[in-house]
Amino acid sequence: MDKAVNNKIGRGKSAATTRRPSRGEAEEAVRTLIRWAGDDPEREGLIATPARVVRAYEEWFAGYKDNPRDYLKRTFEETGGYDEVVVLRDIRFESHCEHHLAPIIGRVHIGYLPRNRVVGISKLARLVEVYARRLQIQEKMTAEIASCLDAVLKPHGVAVVTEATHQCMTTRGIHKPGVTMVTSRMLGVFRDRAETRQEFLSAIGMRGSIHGNGSG
Ligand SMILES: [Zn+2]
Repeated sequence: MDKAVNNKIGRGKSAATTRRPSRGEAEEAVRTLIRWAGDDPEREGLIATPARVVRAYEEWFAGYKDNPRDYLKRTFEETGGYDEVVVLRDIRFESHCEHHLAPIIGRVHIGYLPRNRVVGISKLARLVEVYARRLQIQEKMTAEIASCLDAVLKPHGVAVVTEATHQCMTTRGIHKPGVTMVTSRMLGVFRDRAETRQEFLSAIGMRGSIHGNGSG
């Protein structure tokens, strides 16, 4: 199992580190998709579209440039004795699903019980943004945010709940507008102590709906 996983990661890495396509090649790929959709990339309304799409990609996928662990390591502060749960709710994010490149739009709620380190609100929002601006699946993003906070702040526990709509579900395929997917990752005291978990869930308005057994 480990070996298979490692091989998979290994392949992913080598794909990511092979030569990055040029801007021109990326624009050409967009022209191909426009032709595939059935339109003419040379017509007036579409002539500048490939360049725009490539610029939009630079923004949507800017998260590959940053290592959130290094970033958090530089920015945490001492707690000054604060030992209550910290909750930041409704951090809006926009991401893209790795299966369809379609937008995932939603909110992340983060809670942690500090041991001796805290981070500012803007840093948590930035942390979410770095992971969101990559090709994602919601379960993975939720877990990545939790384990990054856990690894760097070393708190007594971390709770992350993500609620999002997936445009690959709402605009195509099964066409389910209004469906929200909820994923969670509970670590440390949030996993082990029901009352701490409930305190967090009621702070984000989700009392009782999520259990402690990891991602759900
Ligand atoms: Zn999808």
